[in-house]
Amino acid sequence: MKISLDTARIEPVSKPFEETVSVPGSKSYSLRALFISALCDKPFKINDLLDSDDVNAMKRCLEALSGKRIDIDAGESGLTARFMIALACLNPGVQIITGASGLQKRPVKDLVDALRSLGADIEYVRRDGYLPVEVKSSELKGGKVALKGDVSSQYLSALLLIAPRLENGLAINIHGKQTSKPYIDMTIDIMRYFGVDVENQGYKKYVIKAQKYTAKDYTVEGDYSSAAYFFAAAALNRSKITVENLNPASKQADKEFLNILEKMNAKITFADNSVTVSGHGVRPVHINMENCPDQAMTLAVLAAFADGKTTIDGIGSLRIKETERIKALENELAKMGISTSSTRDSLSIKGAKPSGAKIDSYGDHRIAMSFAVAGTKTTGVEIIKPGVVNKTFPGFWKELSKLTGVEKHRIKASNLLLIGMRGSGKTTVGKVLAKKLGKKFIDMDIYLEIKHGKKVRDIVLDEGWEHFRKLETEACEQLSREKDCVISSGGGIVLDQKNMDLFRENSVIMLLKADPRILSRRIRSDENRPELSTQPTLLGELGEVWEKRKEMYFKNADFMVETTRDNPRKIASEILSKLGPQICMVIGDPIEHSLSPDIHNLGYKLLGLEDQFEYRKKRVSSDGIEAFIKQMRDDGIRGASLTMPHKELVLPFLDKIDPVAKQIGAVNTIVNDNGKLTGYNTDWIGVIKPLEKRIVLRGKKAAVIGAGGAAKAFVYALMEAGCEVTVYNRTPEKAEEIGKKFGCGYASLNELGKINNADIICNTTSVGMNGKSSIIDRSYLRPGQIVFDAVYVPLATQMLKDAAAKGAKPVFGLEMLLAQAFEQFKLFTGKDAPEEDISSKIMEKISEG
Ligand code: NAP
Repeated sequence: MKISLDTARIEPVSKPFEETVSVPGSKSYSLRALFISALCDKPFKINDLLDSDDVNAMKRCLEALSGKRIDIDAGESGLTARFMIALACLNPGVQIITGASGLQKRPVKDLVDALRSLGADIEYVRRDGYLPVEVKSSELKGGKVALKGDVSSQYLSALLLIAPRLENGLAINIHGKQTSKPYIDMTIDIMRYFGVDVENQGYKKYVIKAQKYTAKDYTVEGDYSSAAYFFAAAALNRSKITVENLNPASKQADKEFLNILEKMNAKITFADNSVTVSGHGVRPVHINMENCPDQAMTLAVLAAFADGKTTIDGIGSLRIKETERIKALENELAKMGISTSSTRDSLSIKGAKPSGAKIDSYGDHRIAMSFAVAGTKTTGVEIIKPGVVNKTFPGFWKELSKLTGVEKHRIKASNLLLIGMRGSGKTTVGKVLAKKLGKKFIDMDIYLEIKHGKKVRDIVLDEGWEHFRKLETEACEQLSREKDCVISSGGGIVLDQKNMDLFRENSVIMLLKADPRILSRRIRSDENRPELSTQPTLLGELGEVWEKRKEMYFKNADFMVETTRDNPRKIASEILSKLGPQICMVIGDPIEHSLSPDIHNLGYKLLGLEDQFEYRKKRVSSDGIEAFIKQMRDDGIRGASLTMPHKELVLPFLDKIDPVAKQIGAVNTIVNDNGKLTGYNTDWIGVIKPLEKRIVLRGKKAAVIGAGGAAKAFVYALMEAGCEVTVYNRTPEKAEEIGKKFGCGYASLNELGKINNADIICNTTSVGMNGKSSIIDRSYLRPGQIVFDAVYVPLATQMLKDAAAKGAKPVFGLEMLLAQAFEQFKLFTGKDAPEEDISSKIMEKISEG
């Protein structure tokens, strides 16, 4: 299997440019405008709303609240969750505000305390201080409330936004220093636009009288964070750029970046609805970026080109963002030959002439966009996984290509070469990786020892370093021609660039980096270690060797990983996540209309796993199943979902079948663990879950119509849950077969008359897919029955419509499809699927036809 990585190669600009670009709407204003729309009496239009996950979460929550839904799920959006808690306090009925598991770890206590002090009735559903919370109030008194200044400004914004709707208005006293002022300014700014007056007493106290928001159309101003990359590119290339749709009087925090560019030598001009930057090269600065930390990365990249030392203070918060951004900056700048130093909350960059490098974007949109700026000046900058920009700026590469060439490229390599100091974990991690990737593992030292019949130490002692290095280069010539290997190299391989050039052709190169103290602890016991310097202590020796080699390590590495703390398994999965997505797929014939890719890919996207997983569909006919299994092994396909008749045909080709799948006699899920294929059945869980939401199953009478693959999962599930089951089928012999296999009743479809006394009726035939016919006459249905249709397109089949008309409770086939897919999701990724969000999106898609 090839390792494939998508990159964007940026060409340096050939001559100064003069261009106009546009950027997406601001996220902060998009979210606030939507929220205010829920507090207004009349609707209004919002133009240029940002299309992003957070904004969609806010939209969904507001719709759920207005649709009188109880569960309000903010997904991954912290701001949405906090704002919804406040809004729910003004909304009739009981609401439960929740969010994805990551969000459930972020505190909401200060906000809940403040709302409670205003009379809100809020309970924590699980853990005190955290989501989910149950809100029972429908009105708040208002009055006075106190809030700490150094907690999330989202709490204050939430209170400010609902304040005008409180009968007595609200006075908010701030204890301690107010942080994140720009965000509060933005809240007050947009409230003023909608006619609400906020008295801000020096960020110490805010007073808002009871008043009404005035509905009027709103245009979201462009995002200064997105614009910053273009401003930076103009400054660096002595060029001129105009970014449209920017508010020159904006309160956005990242507008501050313009002042920094001015200090670096750029000229800024504001017009009514745009900002122009004219660049004259960059010079070093010393600056505090506490109020616009996101742009510290753009500045760090510019500083790499400024002649002298730039220091950026106040950026400790970057260490707890999507990635450890300061570390990531230092790593990637090092690859470009730029030296840096850092403290807990500052970063210094020694400007020089950066060289080209492949830049790891760490799945972080801001790293990708910042380093793209370097690419406009330096030859050979290539951003790995350029798709990460979609998080906030899907059109980024298109806009950048107005300035210079941007070429999308796919790296394909057969080998993975691990480089790094002795003791950095190349061998242990390499072995785990080889297993996971289904590749051969080669330890270069052992290769040399076997080939030359001597320990590495003895080769060096007997014949000297020079001779050893010669043998090493011969080994590189040999091993670089291998295919499908993970190779753990000797620590000194980088000393000769020729060695690295040999591997580059067909390998991804990964640098493993660990603290020298850890290295010395790990290698102290290694008797086969030849001495590398005349330093008296091992630590001293390691320091000297690292200094000598580090430039070569950085220069040659495509990726870097820290191996100081984590165990080899964790490091291996970090490396795998850098190497591109694992592929899962649904197979069948026909397969065009399968919803599985939508379900799984949406889940990957919502959990930010899209770089690690990708789900596809593939047409595979009955006689192609054996070849497909071979492909799964050869290409390292992580997982497969199966349709009929593959669920039964695949059984002989798997290494292991889970006992439940064996009992059902069908596999709908295959998981590939290091080349070992295990078959599971998740269909039965898809049957159980929706039923358990509606009824206690034990002792109930259930009728299953049909005797195919789906019927088996139904019968197994219902029997497991303690139901008394009868199978009805057109071909009675098949009903009998199931009856005997599972020990349940069986009958022919002609005997449906008996079905009337069933508590649960399930259709597992395909009848109903045409949207018109039903497998049973509606006269058989009665009030209170549960009627389950496995058919999921259309959503409401004729049988389910009949059921509803007769007062029975319908269970939709889509619920089964989703519940079984969520089980597969967990088997493929090891993570819980964001069930609510996926369900509502897929439901929408089906309803739209
Ligand atoms: P299958 O193995 O081909 O079985 C189909 C069954 O339906 C057979 O027992 C067949 O009866 C019966 N049947 C077909 N046409 C009929 C008709 N006109 N009148 C009476 N009986 C008829 O298919 P399957 O995999 O079980 O799938 C069946 C349905 O369930 C499909 O619509 C599928 O999409 C759906 N399904 C849904 C989910 C979900 O997650 N919601 C999961 C699996 C399947 P004979 O034995 O007499 O031929």
